[in-house]
Amino acid sequence: MRVLDNPALHYCCLNSDEVIAIYFLNRKQWMEHNDAPIKINFWLRNLECLQNELKKLNIPLVVLEADTYRDTISVLKDFSIKNDVKNLYFNVEYPINELERDREIYTLFKENNIGVFVHHDQVIHEPGSLKTQTGNNFSVYSPFKRKWFAELQDKQLDILEIPHKKEAMAISGTDLSEILDEFSHDYAEQWPAGEQYIQNYIDEFLKFKGTTYKVKRNFPAIDATAKLSPYINAGVVSSKWCLVKAKEYNNDLLDDGNKGIVHWVSEILWREFYRHIIYNFPKVSKNLPFIDYTKNIPWKKDAEALQKWKEGKTGIPIVDAGIREMLATGWMHNRLRMIVAMFLSKNLLTNWQEGEKYFMENLIDGDIASNNGGWQWSASTGTDAAPYFRIMNPETQSIKFDPQGKYIKRWIPELKDCPEAEIHMPSNPEQYNYPKPIVDLKESRKNAIDVFSAIKS
Ligand SMILES: Cc1cc2nc3c(=O)[nH]c(=O)nc-3n(C[C@H](O)[C@H](O)[C@H](O)COP(=O)(O)OP(=O)(O)OC[C@H]3O[C@@H](n4cnc5c(N)ncnc54)[C@H](O)[C@@H]3O)c2cc1C
Repeated sequence: MRVLDNPALHYCCLNSDEVIAIYFLNRKQWMEHNDAPIKINFWLRNLECLQNELKKLNIPLVVLEADTYRDTISVLKDFSIKNDVKNLYFNVEYPINELERDREIYTLFKENNIGVFVHHDQVIHEPGSLKTQTGNNFSVYSPFKRKWFAELQDKQLDILEIPHKKEAMAISGTDLSEILDEFSHDYAEQWPAGEQYIQNYIDEFLKFKGTTYKVKRNFPAIDATAKLSPYINAGVVSSKWCLVKAKEYNNDLLDDGNKGIVHWVSEILWREFYRHIIYNFPKVSKNLPFIDYTKNIPWKKDAEALQKWKEGKTGIPIVDAGIREMLATGWMHNRLRMIVAMFLSKNLLTNWQEGEKYFMENLIDGDIASNNGGWQWSASTGTDAAPYFRIMNPETQSIKFDPQGKYIKRWIPELKDCPEAEIHMPSNPEQYNYPKPIVDLKESRKNAIDVFSAIKS
């Protein structure tokens, strides 16, 4: 979704006089992957911006349609033969269905004597390239991060320039207006599109909020994080560009110096970590937990409790506020993602996959790798996960990270007159037309620990 620092586009343009950009609409696959309507709308608005940028380079952007990723293969082959395509350039995607598609395209095109050039644009080190001393893949973040820095070479952070203008072509780009209408969304205005927008925004973020990021990032009432995730996941900006910018505001350093910026960099590396995980341990893309014994946890099937969690009506204000933020904006603060995920998987002892799916259905930044990583971390089933006996108490979290209840009141208007002393757990919620807690926090915590402990032993 970008012309700057896009390896496939960059190298294709270096080696070819005429270039066509292809985008696939995979309606059925998107439904199967539970991609949120707000996210699809966001992709397509960015696609429109991309088309405008490509037009300046004489590169037509053509939209093709195929139900699934599998169907993409033959549609792309037919298009390539019909248009006498000599070479195909693409950036790899790591989740399992995407990877299978990419591998099959590679083989099929080679068989048909079309050149195929595969690039990596999502992470700095190619997944599979970082190994432990014993030659294994990393499953713990801190040693992964140490290795990530140890292996980093300067040239890996070179930004690939916007390509030069190509020769004009007879083929014209697809008119996107109907597609944009089909996928319009009420929240679109909250999330402006385009690479220029996000580049300026990150620049401002680092300039004005980078230094305080570490101390403020956990307080959801404060706008202290970058809100970069929708853009970086859709590829509107590269993680490399973000890291280069971080260096620029930190005396050319990434892992030392300004504590706020260093911490922000470490969060971007969590994203890289989960991309390596999904590539190296494909079972996590197959509805399986990373820690095998947790397959046997007897999750409860309480449809009513799950529904209340989904609607933000559990009677635990901080949990409900987090869910309602997501339903109203398509995004949720990281601290809240952890709180609501632990509440669902531990206090309600509901299968984390229900939550994983619901997040994908609603998040503008819904991402198979990071979402799976975050859910499995919270449910104590994943790589480097929270130990099962360390369960966050939502009320304590609320007191600590939303002390005056500002975030709660923003998203739960019913509680606007609730006094500060009671906002985290109102003693008489009905007077505000707000529900009573659906579960006792202490008892349900103890129950979850007992269940995990019994299954583990
Ligand atoms: C249960 C759960 C589900 C999650 N689902 C997603 C998801 O679907 N998509 C997604 O992008 N992130 C997900 N996260 C991670 C994190 O919550 C978001 O990346 C972050 O809130 C995005 O906001 P930001 O851009 O302001 O982040 P900032 O704090 O500004 O961080 C900068 C960037 O670092 C990366 N990052 C930060 N924290 C994490 C993390 N814990 N894991 C991976 N990458 C991180 C993101 O790309 C983020 O944009 C999830 C976390 C949890 C606990």
